[in-house]
Amino acid sequence: MSQSAMSVGCPHCGTASAVELATTDGAEHANQERLKGRRVDCQHCGDDFSFYYY
Ligand SMILES: [Zn+2]
Repeated sequence: MSQSAMSVGCPHCGTASAVELATTDGAEHANQERLKGRRVDCQHCGDDFSFYYY
């Protein structure tokens, strides 16, 4: 199982937070762009923001 992580800069303080991008488990929608969102809690300033990715 491969799980990728990205570093996302906090829009509030700019500190990079690690975000785990969960892979979809088999269900693929070929003709549908699915925008996934992750809730990110900044470990520096405590701000939480949503990070969206494809
Ligand atoms: Zn922050």
